Amino acid sequence: MSATEGRDRMRSGNAILEAIETKKFGGELSEDLILDVVEGYTAGEVPDYQMASLLMAIFIQGMGYGETLALTRAMAESGETYSFPECVDKHSTGGVGDKVSLTALPIVAACGAPVAKLSGRGLGTTGGTIDKLESIPGFSSYLSEEQFRRQVREIGLAIIEAGDLAPADKEIYALRDTTGTVDSLPLIGSSIVSKKVATGAGYLLYDVKRGSGAFMKTTDEAHKLAELLVRLSEDLGIRASALITDMDNPLGSAVGNALEVRESVRLLKNAPVPEDLAGEANRVSIRLLELKGIPEAETAVESALASGAAYEKFREFVVAQGADAGALENLPVSAEVREIGAPRGGYVAHFGASGIGRAALALGAGREQKSDRIDPGSGVEVLVKPGDRIEEGQPVARLYGEREAEHAGRLVLEALEISGEPVEPPPAILDSL
Ligand code: URA
Repeated sequence: MSATEGRDRMRSGNAILEAIETKKFGGELSEDLILDVVEGYTAGEVPDYQMASLLMAIFIQGMGYGETLALTRAMAESGETYSFPECVDKHSTGGVGDKVSLTALPIVAACGAPVAKLSGRGLGTTGGTIDKLESIPGFSSYLSEEQFRRQVREIGLAIIEAGDLAPADKEIYALRDTTGTVDSLPLIGSSIVSKKVATGAGYLLYDVKRGSGAFMKTTDEAHKLAELLVRLSEDLGIRASALITDMDNPLGSAVGNALEVRESVRLLKNAPVPEDLAGEANRVSIRLLELKGIPEAETAVESALASGAAYEKFREFVVAQGADAGALENLPVSAEVREIGAPRGGYVAHFGASGIGRAALALGAGREQKSDRIDPGSGVEVLVKPGDRIEEGQPVARLYGEREAEHAGRLVLEALEISGEPVEPPPAILDSL
């Protein structure tokens, strides 16, 4: 070990102990201390057991806004950073059947707002945009930085897998996942925003989902997270805004990778899709254009869909990333299909997003563990939405895929709540800020 390495290790060792001692009694961590700890942990000088101890102290004692901002900045700057100040981006906190990135982003790109997006893969019942796009034969999520920049410049839309941006967050998130410290508002807020700051888009819309299929179960929790995300982003130089949207029911009808791309293609071709999906893609597109300052956003979105420009932009984008645009016309899905009938007549009160997400997972559409292999053609199509009148035996869902189909069928039936009385469908967008 060199003298410099030795000094760094000692500095990190002192910093992490001081941080643990301060936080366990509810004290405030200084910006320098947070930076030393994050740098030390990223460099491998702070061991997991000490970092886990600090995370638990933060989980229990909380963090003030200044500490959260300092943590966000330190994690954002812990590795490589990009800069796309002219670009818009959106971030969803994750849901079931959430295909708003696949639809709203080509729409806004067609309206003249460039998009440079780094996305993730799905884990558990939450799908990931990269898995969805990779269900298109030939699509590649890997571009060099130079290719990524060129595609943003020339096509106005590029989406790649988030690699090593904000490495401190990657390490800390993995540790939180195994130490019961995920569900802490300051840790969630700093984790999400650090990756966005490292990506460098100038305009950002957060779609904070709330409900049984989401991270945040109540509107109040979702509101607090949305406020924190917007405030941190604005303080770190991003123009940001947020929507709070329903995730008690899956969004649209398709849940599963190729199935969701097929439904997105229908929307982009201006063909009918469920009202909740159409409304949310529309609202997100308009809000992104407004953030970017593009005039008459509503009319621009309507005409991008009606003229075919939005679909054309999507085709251009997938071709640029190696896919065969022809495949979009009839994307392969599993040939193993079975329908589930309603156990009785009535009105659909609720088709639980969490249960539908678990059914899609059982069929192979998602991963329980990061290393699991997904079946891109598997998933669930819900054929009825809250408020619909249904008859006994009427098909309510279609299952695609051969893994654990019996179990998936049971989960779908458990997720379906039928009322004897007419039901008002819930609003897809609950609030905005
Ligand atoms: N998503 C993230 O990126 N980080 C969290 O902490 C939670 C959800």
